[in-house]
Parts: sequence; structure tokens; C-alpha cells
Amino acid sequence: MKLSIKAPAKINLSLDVLHKRDDGFHEVEMVMTTIDLADRIELTTLDEDIIKIESSGGYVPSDFRNLAYQAADLLKKECNRNEGVHITIDKHIPVSAGLAGGSSDAAATLKGLNELWDLGLSIDELAVLGAKIGSDVSFCVYGGTALATGRGEIIKSIPSPPPCWVVLAKPAIGVSTADVYRNLKLAEVEHPDIQSMVAAIERKDFNQICYLLGNVLESVTLEDYPDVSHIKNQMERLGAEGVLMSGSGPTVFGLTVHETRAQRIYNGLRGFCNEVYMVRMLGETE
Ligand code: ATP
Repeated sequence: MKLSIKAPAKINLSLDVLHKRDDGFHEVEMVMTTIDLADRIELTTLDEDIIKIESSGGYVPSDFRNLAYQAADLLKKECNRNEGVHITIDKHIPVSAGLAGGSSDAAATLKGLNELWDLGLSIDELAVLGAKIGSDVSFCVYGGTALATGRGEIIKSIPSPPPCWVVLAKPAIGVSTADVYRNLKLAEVEHPDIQSMVAAIERKDFNQICYLLGNVLESVTLEDYPDVSHIKNQMERLGAEGVLMSGSGPTVFGLTVHETRAQRIYNGLRGFCNEVYMVRMLGETE
């Protein structure tokens, strides 16, 4: 039996870090939304009790370190399954980019195997399992647009932002999320207004959404990687209505409602950045 499932990337429209918790995680508040840039996961059941991973992209582990592997392994243990699965990942989401590619692959694997193995788990149960793999996996299980709190695993779905174009550019550097959090100086950062962002999304107020974009992790990544600042400036110069770094970076996204402007930003950035994408937001939870 075989099943194919899409694993979309996310961007953060707002990312705040409140404090470091006793368990070592950071307490966060994030507004996240899925975009139409996706990996494709193919799951094929195996009689032999093994998890096999095959991935099209470089830099992605094909063993237990792969988050899709961890998702399958967790489901097997939780639900006492003694059968195997072959997981093929057709990678389109840039790796270590702040777009939750690995988390989305894990979420898609949880959802796909739930169906393929007829496990009958609810979406909430899958999200709880996802949190054991990584903080962004729960959001990826739900998809759509959400306010994420706690260490990122407490998800409240909200309406989708108004339709717009998202141009993404990733400089040729990988950023370690752990290092960014380690170097974050919380006393010095400017905190984004998360509640106003949620309200602007609910009102579908595109201009206000662009105005309220904010990410405290920019304070670390922009200082360490001047390329990221450069891309932000270029996006603004080329006419993006709102520009922000996603997650811990280094991917920068620009928002615009105008297709011709999105195309201009895309073309302008292709000159000095290898990985540039022009996509739509995905909107409500599918
Ligand atoms: P986030 O936005 O959640 O911080 P990210 O986009 O910065 O995530 P990922 O692309 O998920 O980062 O990759 C982070 C690390 O996870 C990489 O070092 C990569 O080797 C590893 N990894 C494990 N499984 C996967 C996967 N299925 N796809 C991509 N990376 C994976």
C-alpha cells in the first residue's frame, strides 16, 4: 500500500521569545502560516519491520536522525505496530532555513501513517505526538494559520491572512536554531506585538499585517550574517510591502498583493541569491 502526501513549509509572521524556562526551552509566542512550497512524502508499507528513508535533497540524514524516521518510529512504538515503511522524501523546502522543512516532513509522516496503518488517531492526538519530535511539528500537523505558544507546541488555529504573494530568498548559509537562541540577548530586543498581529489577520488587514511583522531572532541572525540584512534591504527596495526573516533564518520573505511586483522582487533577487521562490500563502487548515 502506498500514499503520497504534501508537507508544506511555514513562515513566521511574528516571533517573540518571552523567557528561558527551567526545562531549558524558551517560552515563545509565534504567528505561523503555511505556504505553497512543499516537500512530497511517499509512504509505502513494508512487511519487513524496518523504517527506510530515501531523500532527494542533500544535507538530509537518511537514518534515525531524519525527523520523518522519528515520526514513524514513534507511531510504531505508541501503537505497537510490527511492520515497516519506506519513506521517500522529495525535498523542495530548503534545509536549515527557518521554514520547518524537517518538522513538516515529520507531521506529514504522522498523518500519512495514521491513514495507511488505519490507526484512528485524531488530529489533536497526532499533534501531541508531534511535540515529542520537535516544537514546530504540532503546528505542521494542523497546518493553516495559528498562534503557537508554550515552546511552540500549544496551537490555536486562527483565520488565514488575506491572499498575497510570498517571495522567499535563502542565502547560501545554514543557521543553527540552537546557536541563535543561545546568542539571543532578551533584555535588549524589541518585542513584536503578537495580539495586534492576530487582530490584523482576523480583520484581513494586509497593510497592518505588513507593518506588524516582527521576529526577535533577527537581532542575532542579522548581526552574524550580513547577507540576510542585504536581502532584506533588496526586498524592500524592490517594493515588497512587508519583509521579515522566518524563524531563526536565514530565509527572508517579502509579501505583496501584486503579482507583477512579486515577479520583480523574484527576478531582482535571483541575481545574487541561488534559492529564490515565489509562492502563495496556503491559508486555512486543509
Ligand atoms: P525550523 O524552522 O523548525 O527551525 P529549519 O527549517 O531551520 O527548521 P530543517 O530544514 O527542518 O530546519 O532542518 C534542520 C536540521 O534537521 C538539519 O540539520 C537537517 O539535517 C535535519 N533534518 C532531519 N530530518 C530532516 C528532514 N526530513 N528534512 C530536512 N532536514 C532534516
